[in-house]
Amino acid sequence: MMKSRISDMDERNSQAYTEDQLSFFMEEALAQARLAELDGEVPIGAVIVQHGQIIARGKNSREESQDATGHAEIDAIRQACHQTGSWRLNDCDLFVTLEPCLMCAGAIIQARIRHLYFGASDPKSGMAGSAGDAFALPANHTVRITGGLLAGPCGDPLRSFFERKRNKI
Ligand code: ZN
Repeated sequence: MMKSRISDMDERNSQAYTEDQLSFFMEEALAQARLAELDGEVPIGAVIVQHGQIIARGKNSREESQDATGHAEIDAIRQACHQTGSWRLNDCDLFVTLEPCLMCAGAIIQARIRHLYFGASDPKSGMAGSAGDAFALPANHTVRITGGLLAGPCGDPLRSFFERKRNKI
């Protein structure tokens, strides 16, 4: 299910992507999720797009790094800030395969990300409307949000990952 919250200001500033571009960027995030899975991580990936170009890629690395903040979105935001030389990513859009958690929602707001596109919803800890809505809390930046982009392909690797995990135990 696609859902979108649009404020007038963001609408003016927003970059219009074609359906093909949206799919392409989410496919690139999915490629990061596959790389994470090869490393034995939960398959979640992200990319950040500025002026129509991917400037940062991130993947879940919590097991390898043993870092609780090792989520795909944090990884991508760090790279994008490094790449642009600025903590303000207000002309950047973030594509992530799974609905962000509370920590990542906070980081997305702090980084002033313009538009968040996510794939699968996360009923347990998704904070863009599923388990809660961190983006609706008072903040001095409004993030545009579109969920459900390639939701099936984004959710499948996660479902099979946890299925395999359950079967092993
Ligand atoms: Zn997260």
